[in-house]
Amino acid sequence: MRRKRQITMKPTVEYITERFHHFNKLCFGGELAIIPIKLSNAKTFLGKLGFKRRKRLFGKWEYYDFRMFINTRIETSELELEDTILHEMIHYYLYSHQIDDGRPHGMHFRQMMDHINKTYGRHITISHRSSAESLKQIEGTRPSPHIFAIITLKDGKRFIKVVPRIKERVLSFHKMIKRTGKLQSIEWYYSKDPYFNRFPSSVSLRVQFFDEEEMKEHLTTAVHIHCDGKKLELGEDL
Ligand SMILES: [Zn+2]
Repeated sequence: MRRKRQITMKPTVEYITERFHHFNKLCFGGELAIIPIKLSNAKTFLGKLGFKRRKRLFGKWEYYDFRMFINTRIETSELELEDTILHEMIHYYLYSHQIDDGRPHGMHFRQMMDHINKTYGRHITISHRSSAESLKQIEGTRPSPHIFAIITLKDGKRFIKVVPRIKERVLSFHKMIKRTGKLQSIEWYYSKDPYFNRFPSSVSLRVQFFDEEEMKEHLTTAVHIHCDGKKLELGEDL
């Protein structure tokens, strides 16, 4: 099927602000106070809700100090841009009502998203990062398979390590990091998500920091690999 070419646009703060007020009235009962809108040049997201949080009594988080970031590096169609704004507004609605979904796109998020999509004919998606066209633009490549480890050290620091997709390499890295004596735990995964393209692949002990919140989302589609240091058990063929 031929893909329709779409007109793309770079948003301005004025434009986003105007859309914010429009959707606030239309979809959120006018309940949302305007927040600072920031344009971003990042390679990793189309939109993002910034906020602070503090622990309250009984360990509950309180969310406050919200900001909305909208990407200007990636040109999107106006509809997609609006959907990105709506996506962030749903996050904002939930967090500002102190509704903790447990994960970035939990039950409450999905319910609101489905409702808005149905009622207003929108196409908001769960992951603004995985809207196919844009993701390719961001990551620069197609989905490609990766094997990687999420490493937790005894001092609590967490890293990701992508290794070549060869069983012996995986096992040799596994043994090598264990021998450092600093390892708390190591979990292996397999994923085709282009998100993992950004991490260099090698067998050295060089590891990469990652964003926990972001990683959580990408791990939901990854396949867990059981590794006992001697053999690998994969959920599916590589
Ligand atoms: Zn989101």
